[in-house]
Amino acid sequence: MSYEITVDLTTCDGIFACLVRDGRFEEADDGLVTLPDGRREDGELRVTFDDDRLGEARDAAAACPLDAIDVREVTES
Ligand code: SF4
Repeated sequence: MSYEITVDLTTCDGIFACLVRDGRFEEADDGLVTLPDGRREDGELRVTFDDDRLGEARDAAAACPLDAIDVREVTES
């Protein structure tokens, strides 16, 4: 299952409710959130995973009180 996680870093306030739901979320040096192999661009953190952890990512998104995390399934065409 391929899916993309996007975090709006202009909204993220380092509350870290996401870490508890999905251990791939970590605190970055600047106090905001980061993900393995995540790319920061235009105020967003973006990474695509291809594994069976979509549920954890969705739980992290649901736990974020600022609704900064978006999880989207990626379908190959
Ligand atoms: S829970 Fe939301 S606001 Fe808090 S660190 Fe995670 S993404 Fe940022």
